[in-house]
Amino acid sequence: MDLNSLTVAGTVAAIRERQVTATALAEDFYRKIAAEDREIHSYLSVSKERAMAAAASVDALAGRGDPLPPLAGVPMAIKDVMVTRGVCTTAGSKILENYIPPYDCTAVARLEAAGAVVLGKTNCDEFAMGSSTENSAYGPVRNPRDKTRVPGGSSGGSAAAVAAGFAVAALGSDTGGSIRQPASFCGVVGLMPTYGRVSRYGLIAFASSLDHIGPLAHSVKDAAILLGIIAGRDPLDSTSADVPVPDYAAEIGKPVRGMRIGVPKEYFPEGMDAEVRTAAEDAIQLLAAKAGCGVVPISLPHTPYAIPTYYLVATAEASSNLARYDGVRYGHRSRESATLSEMYRRSRHEGFGAEVKRRIMLGTYALSAGYYDAYYLKAQKVRTLLTRDFEEAFKQVDAIITPTSPTPAFKLGEKVDDPLSMYLADIFTVTADLVGVPGISIPCGNSREGLPIGMQIMARHFDEPTLFRLGHAYEHAAA
Ligand code: GLN
Repeated sequence: MDLNSLTVAGTVAAIRERQVTATALAEDFYRKIAAEDREIHSYLSVSKERAMAAAASVDALAGRGDPLPPLAGVPMAIKDVMVTRGVCTTAGSKILENYIPPYDCTAVARLEAAGAVVLGKTNCDEFAMGSSTENSAYGPVRNPRDKTRVPGGSSGGSAAAVAAGFAVAALGSDTGGSIRQPASFCGVVGLMPTYGRVSRYGLIAFASSLDHIGPLAHSVKDAAILLGIIAGRDPLDSTSADVPVPDYAAEIGKPVRGMRIGVPKEYFPEGMDAEVRTAAEDAIQLLAAKAGCGVVPISLPHTPYAIPTYYLVATAEASSNLARYDGVRYGHRSRESATLSEMYRRSRHEGFGAEVKRRIMLGTYALSAGYYDAYYLKAQKVRTLLTRDFEEAFKQVDAIITPTSPTPAFKLGEKVDDPLSMYLADIFTVTADLVGVPGISIPCGNSREGLPIGMQIMARHFDEPTLFRLGHAYEHAAA
């Protein structure tokens, strides 16, 4: 069995037809991880006992000839910002180095209830803050397509694990692009669902009004199947939406003729990377020529304000969310303090990395008395203007297509000392998070150096079906 290209549906079919057992398949993946992940470093930990127990129960069902659940035996990887009961969860931070959560993230529990086999937890930027996975306290991930380059971030471990064949699919989280951008850097599909579509219960909070959980996979169809499992109202997350979950997988193969694709001029600026521009433009032309879509030039005029708005809202919310790491309730506690306040200070000083500290300081500043109106409140107002841009656009078009990232994967170390240029890696992705609309990144070619390039499709709130239809139509037309 070729572990590098196994799909979700292909895995379930192979297990149903008894070509392989879930146990043997999990063992194959663990062997591959042991042999090859030393170089990539996509996993922070593996959860073999739990995985083998899940695989054994799938095999017991298959052995009795019972109907199999929809993800029976599918080996998956989970970004280490989702808590797993009894399995160490670090969020890529020293402050949670030995943290063993007492409960499961809803999205993970739903995958396991559907028969998935969770192989382990993937490496990520500390608290999901970053665009290259170089902010992990446990060392960076390398891009399987070119090991001198980053896999993107912050879900770089999940993207690399799928691209390298260390899991059939993975979960990541996206606050400003962290599913879509690493998907594009590693040449896989990455979906950020509508805000509220997937419960955030058990997702370690970065910026609560922007955080999303979503799948990374080899194909649009796999992403659709996985979203169908993890989506839906969860009484444990009051922001999870009480909106029925459609049969996403049924969208695969439906016609897209006549759909109108908006192409925003702000996402194709002068001077942008020529190969990225050409790949995205060619993909749009292919959808027009082969699938019968209409192409409509549009404008999203507030786009230039998205990055500053994002870095105000995200840091403000992060400074509040990260206040809970005080050395008392979770994780690392400094040993050498004489007073309580010194213990707080030292625990946080020792436990947090440089980027996390930078964000806490920026966010605390933006929320301070006297600055709140000038920064946080202003940012929330601009967020409304960005939302209006999309409302206007979606009066004319059904979907918006842009490049996912302004460049292909950059070199390890290239941007670590330049936070501003790192922040610009998210220039095309942050807006969807701020507005709450869904976005998917799909591979749409390679650079001359052989690096993957991704295109992003965005649609109206809760219109993931359009993303799946168009995305699959593109895969089909490009194949
Ligand atoms: N790279 C962005 C940041 O550093 C987005 C991260 C994310 O989506 N989690 O904030």
